[in-house]
Amino acid sequence: MSKSTQDYVSGDIANVWHHLTLHQGNAPMIVTEGKGLYIKDINGKEYLDATSGGVWCVNVGYGRERIANAAAEQMKKIPFYAASCGSLPTIDFSEKLLSHMPGFSRVYISSSGSEANEKAYKMVRQISQLKHGGKKYKIVYRNRDYHGTTISTLSSCGQEERREQYGPFTPGFVEFPACLAYRSPYPEGTPDLGEKFARELEIVVQKEDPDTVGAVIVEPITAGGGIIVPPDGYYETISEICKKYGLLLIMDEVVCGLGRTGKWFGYQHFNVQPDIVTMAKGVASAYMPISCTVTTEEIFKDLQAGGDKLAYFRDISTFGGCMAAQAAALENIRIIEEENLLDNVVAMGDYTQEGLRGLLAHANVGDVRGKGLLQGVEFVEDKASKTPLPEEKIIAICGAMAKRGVLVGRTNRSFAGRNNIINLAPAYIVTRAEVDIIVNALDESIREVLG
Ligand code: PLP
Repeated sequence: MSKSTQDYVSGDIANVWHHLTLHQGNAPMIVTEGKGLYIKDINGKEYLDATSGGVWCVNVGYGRERIANAAAEQMKKIPFYAASCGSLPTIDFSEKLLSHMPGFSRVYISSSGSEANEKAYKMVRQISQLKHGGKKYKIVYRNRDYHGTTISTLSSCGQEERREQYGPFTPGFVEFPACLAYRSPYPEGTPDLGEKFARELEIVVQKEDPDTVGAVIVEPITAGGGIIVPPDGYYETISEICKKYGLLLIMDEVVCGLGRTGKWFGYQHFNVQPDIVTMAKGVASAYMPISCTVTTEEIFKDLQAGGDKLAYFRDISTFGGCMAAQAAALENIRIIEEENLLDNVVAMGDYTQEGLRGLLAHANVGDVRGKGLLQGVEFVEDKASKTPLPEEKIIAICGAMAKRGVLVGRTNRSFAGRNNIINLAPAYIVTRAEVDIIVNALDESIREVLG
């Protein structure tokens, strides 16, 4: 006998541990299928998904048979062998990925963003051991940035509500301030704001003792922390500070990577060349779990410094050897190339921002910001005080949008009292008509909830 909808709902409530939430008394959403930008729930209700799978992942949209077939074909040939060996899809994928990353030559594969960052941290620590007598072990991270869910990536998390109750943390991680112009500590109109924000890094590095600091990790554009595009000049100064103190620059491209902001990688908008780039969500548009830690040849060589018998990266992630993920990722990149999707990301990103700017007429819409199809709206009690609107109100606006059949994201219990940002990140195939639907639904939902 087949199960009823109610059986599935009961099973979900009884046995499934949902991420990031309690059920909070509501019937959980159970998703069943997706096509293009749209998904259906178990009751047959259709939603326009302006989140690319809830957490900015399904970048080329749902229902891509090419990706499913590429993965299936690989599984039929050979599904797995430990990544201590080579494999055809891994070689093809790595070559293709690196063709969009001038200056980089090594791809290390694992299966989540947290893992990709953990690898980067291990590289920094090992290089510190091999080249600096273990002294240059500290890693500086930025307030508001997120780098993952493991204890060490949480140790480098600039979002205090995510860390709460999970300490003690891994030693050697130090925070520097965020670079959000809307909530700048500097007076409005301050010249060289980007440089001023970046100098905050130098202050922290000097305080820690530059000889003890090995690396800096940042998201090129902060995603979950509130969609923060650093002001002009920021990354030039960050680069200069890294060079001055011999710090490796790690770009966490887990959200921005593979085209989300309109270039292949977020850092490519800025005049900066990182040493290590991590990526995950969009690598195979989440059709398969795959993440990468990509480095320069210099980093690869540094890990062999000194002729020590243990001087190579002694790391393995079992599922880095699941070749269907690499096959899916290769197909994903081919789709982005063949359909010129980055052009659409730029055009629709600009169009979305223009629409969202129209919402600034609402008394509670304080700021609109973003790049490409990574856009955010910050809500406030009033524009003069900029007091953040309470999270309950943001949840209510998102609920009103879901009622209208549009799903959007939001800062979710990340910063006490500052979870006041709604974010939009639809798949790269979004059209003008769909952007209109999303922006109109937001407009109506703001009126419904806030009056
Ligand atoms: N880095 C950033 C910028 C992220 O947004 C995330 C996840 O949201 C991660 C790292 C961690 O990725 P994962 O959840 O795949 O471990």
